[in-house]
Amino acid sequence: MSDGFDEIASRLVATAKSFHSRGWLLGTSGNLSAVVQREPLQLAMSPSGVDKGELRADQLLSIDEHAQITGGNSGKPSDESLLHIRIVKQRGAGAVLHTHSIWNTILSDVYAAEGGVKIEGYEMLKGLQGVRTHEHAEWLPIIENSQNIPALAGTIGHTLNRHEAAHGFLVRRHGLYSWGENLAQAKRHIEILEFLLETIGRTLHIRAQAT
Ligand SMILES: [Zn+2]
Repeated sequence: MSDGFDEIASRLVATAKSFHSRGWLLGTSGNLSAVVQREPLQLAMSPSGVDKGELRADQLLSIDEHAQITGGNSGKPSDESLLHIRIVKQRGAGAVLHTHSIWNTILSDVYAAEGGVKIEGYEMLKGLQGVRTHEHAEWLPIIENSQNIPALAGTIGHTLNRHEAAHGFLVRRHGLYSWGENLAQAKRHIEILEFLLETIGRTLHIRAQAT
């Protein structure tokens, strides 16, 4: 394994622990990846079935563009690796992160009929790459969940094409995907989107109680 892989693996572990401590990756849920090299594509990817609070750098897997392990550590890549690869290729992302928080799960269901969540008017939006004002309207598309991962990857591809400015998307009753040019930016995007989704969810709840 290259030094690049080991460095990236340890940074992915630090990100997993941080997200786990916030309740966004409980149990074995969610997954994380980062690009090690582009030609040919090599990703460092979290393994399937490992508690994200206990994840170790030596458990990270090196996979190619077909989600096949390319050497080093053995283990089973996450079923959702193909979704990460799709996002990396289509968005030119350097890292893709996927969380299963309570609030992203709730809002992915509450707004499913609208096809997405419109997030507008919050200062925290400025943490998303390229956003300069709280007046920005971010559309977070919602995709129906499926256990057919190749089909889900196809749906994600269409959704990314249709919503070129989106910084992430929700999978219904499942979780949030976001990405960035590098791991630091992807982590920031998840933190911003999780903050905004929780804010919207809590606001709905408080308003419902007040009426
Ligand atoms: Zn998931």
